[in-house]
Amino acid sequence: MIIIMLGAQGTGKGTVAGLISEATGIPQISTGDIFRKNISEKTELGIEADKYISKGELVPDDITVPMVDDRLSWDDAKEGAILDGFPRTIEQAKKLDEILTKKGKKVDLVINLVTPRDEIIDRMLTRRVCTNPDCKATYNIKLHPPIKEGICDKCGSPLKQREDDKNADAIKKRLEIYEEKTSPLIDFYKNKGVLRTEEISISINRMGTDVAKDIVNDIKK
Ligand code: AMP
Repeated sequence: MIIIMLGAQGTGKGTVAGLISEATGIPQISTGDIFRKNISEKTELGIEADKYISKGELVPDDITVPMVDDRLSWDDAKEGAILDGFPRTIEQAKKLDEILTKKGKKVDLVINLVTPRDEIIDRMLTRRVCTNPDCKATYNIKLHPPIKEGICDKCGSPLKQREDDKNADAIKKRLEIYEEKTSPLIDFYKNKGVLRTEEISISINRMGTDVAKDIVNDIKK
């Protein structure tokens, strides 16, 4: 099963994808996480990608698309994947269709997460991530804090704030890019009949854990 997580930054795509992955065994493939791992390991790909990521810009397709194509060929993705952070443009969505067609697969479900703008910005500022690139658990110091302040519950490594979450200009740029380039994917996938929109907000007392639980129940039906 191929699942795509859609939604602006800070809506909880990573959290929901992680919970669905844990419950179903379908691997979570986050392009942002792959880039950050490469940046921390100072690989050629990481050094190139960082030039764009630090400014809040999209990494060019000639780097991103082959990286996703390669990752989808790993053994663990034979039965499917939860794509978190890809595609981010109509162009990438069309390229993904080509990649999947070659593998005899298609996009089965697109989960579109929606959260009010003021909550999104607050969540990006209060998000903390595990520094261990093989763990990459995500926390929120207000909504979902670790048991011990500054320490990852899962692996015990220190937590930190993402570089692009510290920079107000980069946050603004990322949200602008989402509106301009990524949000057209909502209609793209609605027209294909695979879109499922879910609101996540404190105001309706519905968080990522609630959404993930409902989706896992439906997948397992
Ligand atoms: P994320 O963790 O999904 O917020 O991604 C962090 C950053 O990685 C983004 O702001 C982009 O600079 C880059 N990135 C992640 N996914 C993609 C993608 N599909 N296309 C281009 N750039 C991406």
